[in-house]
Amino acid sequence: MKLIDGKRVSSQIRQEISLEVKKIVEEEEKPPHLAAILVGDDPASETYVNNKAKACKEIGFESSNYKLPGDVSQEELLETIDFINNDDEIDGVIVQLPLPDHIDEYKIIESIKPEKDVDGFHPINVGRMSIGLPAYISATPFGIIELLKRYEIETKGKNCVVLGRSNIVGRPISVLMNHNSEPGNSTVTVCHSRTENIKEITAKADILIVAIGKKEFVTADMVKQNAVVIDVGIHRVASVEKKSGFKLVGDVKFDEVSKKASYITPVPGGVGPMTITALLHNTLKARKKDIYK
Ligand code: NAP
Repeated sequence: MKLIDGKRVSSQIRQEISLEVKKIVEEEEKPPHLAAILVGDDPASETYVNNKAKACKEIGFESSNYKLPGDVSQEELLETIDFINNDDEIDGVIVQLPLPDHIDEYKIIESIKPEKDVDGFHPINVGRMSIGLPAYISATPFGIIELLKRYEIETKGKNCVVLGRSNIVGRPISVLMNHNSEPGNSTVTVCHSRTENIKEITAKADILIVAIGKKEFVTADMVKQNAVVIDVGIHRVASVEKKSGFKLVGDVKFDEVSKKASYITPVPGGVGPMTITALLHNTLKARKKDIYK
């Protein structure tokens, strides 16, 4: 069994990006600039936005954070996005989710200029990705594809089973694995909460991608010998072994499944570390106008 090391791949991609930023700056051009909008004061969201700003700084990007109160009106939030959409100094913008209940998340996502939608959630980017046009690909599917690519895992002609059909993970990764591309060209089956006989389906998977949000759901008896297993799930569980009092586990029962898998992503340290890196990758693309010429 080989462990797929998301931390290592993530730091490799960041090094590649920082070299490109150096070149841009040496040519006396402005570095990529990412703006983040945070509504309210949820500590987890705040940490995430701060981590993004820190990653920008480390890699040589400009970044700006727009912090709005939790009771901000939808109109004010739309005005902030409109301001950023029209600011030529800013290449990419993300709105930290989730948003408070009085704000329509889809309306907000749709108000971002597709050219600056580095989270890749705008329907135009999702649509372009679906039909194989250049597009910003959202963080988790991007991360999975990069891991498969950099570990040179053969996907062509393979049976790929995706557990979960969410808009941010299951559905987009199933589309990408089915594309006529490398990685891609797999025969894809997507399972969800109404799927019958899941075990029979997963047991035929050469590549099993799990994103269902159920702690250690996938057990060894559900997995084919030598399958490639990508675990997207993240759950905090109490642990006396850890100083913090908790540890992270995935949607896959790692101890037993890792004995059968040819490759597997650990939790933590697999798909997770790729998410902010994906955002940096997309922001560099926005700066270089690689997607929308
Ligand atoms: P989600 O929006 O809750 O979607 C879960 C999907 O799994 C749904 O399609 C659901 O089916 C399906 N499902 C639920 N129970 C099932 C069952 N018993 N059998 C088969 N399918 C089942 O979750 P998500 O946002 O995709 O996230 C999934 C997991 O990944 C979570 O643990 C989340 O924390 C984690 N995550 C990690 C990262 C990362 O960076 N590592 C990023 C994003 C998410 P229905 O559609 O029928 O309801």
